[in-house]
Amino acid sequence: MSSQWIYLDNDFVKKEEALVSVFDHGFLYGDGVFEGIRAYSGNIFKLSEHLDRLYQSAQSIMLNIPYSKEEMEEIIIGTVRRNQLETAYIRVVVSRGTGNLGLDPVSCSKPSVIVIAESLSLFPEELYERGLKMGSVASRRNRPDVLSPQVKSLNYLNNILVKLEANQAGVDEALMLNDQGYVTEGSADNIFIVKNNKIFTPPVYLGALEGITRNAIIDIAPENGYQISEQPFTRHDVYTADEVFLTGTAVEVIAVIDVDGRKIGTGRPGEVTKHLLTAFRNAVMKDGVQCYPAEKADAV
Ligand code: PMP
Repeated sequence: MSSQWIYLDNDFVKKEEALVSVFDHGFLYGDGVFEGIRAYSGNIFKLSEHLDRLYQSAQSIMLNIPYSKEEMEEIIIGTVRRNQLETAYIRVVVSRGTGNLGLDPVSCSKPSVIVIAESLSLFPEELYERGLKMGSVASRRNRPDVLSPQVKSLNYLNNILVKLEANQAGVDEALMLNDQGYVTEGSADNIFIVKNNKIFTPPVYLGALEGITRNAIIDIAPENGYQISEQPFTRHDVYTADEVFLTGTAVEVIAVIDVDGRKIGTGRPGEVTKHLLTAFRNAVMKDGVQCYPAEKADAV
């Protein structure tokens, strides 16, 4: 690609010129919200669900996004088109905007809206064939009554701290518990366990982001013959599961083959995980918004 175009406050600017102020409260305080979205062959998967979550995060922190959801959808589609992308990772950021050094958002007159779309280098297939190692970490998931994990805010330090712990421990991903010891999620992905062909994931009120891939799996699993339910569980349930897998926009569905040194199942990605990854990849074109409808019609 010759040049990457970034949407920044009503304009498309070149990557090198896409700069925000050091007085932006997104930078000074992590005051803002974001979404990570994915396009498959020009189809922006679950765009309306991502927009709903973005606007709910903003509503929760009293951040007034200066566009309607319809306008934001056009901006996102426009950014993908402008960069002539088909398979893309899209980052939408709305920060509180430029203010003074005090934390009070009242000094910020106008939120900043940024959309970045870039071509997505897929995770290597060998990672899906091998599976990930996970380790539980000392840091607990933010309590929902302190800073709700449902607010996808620019303050990701809770998640970054556990990622650092995972790196220190030499594992691929962190297993985050809540303050009562119940399993919540990974640093940036939701967790599922499989036992006797039944699938379980923690209810989000325990302290997990309501992931859009998670919800897609909750829909897809019964269509593929599996019982799935939201249920609290502990590390013991994870250690003794037949299969463990993670879901997220970037990683899709990926097996976990080792947790805290306990081999999960056979120590190789299991059949249910593999089946759900295939079913998920078959579903990604069926739900979303197509960026290039005219070209599609021409091609038929
Ligand atoms: N949990 C956290 C903390 C995340 O940041 C993400 C990534 N957005 C997920 C779960 C997975 O959510 P989704 O499937 O919507 O990408």
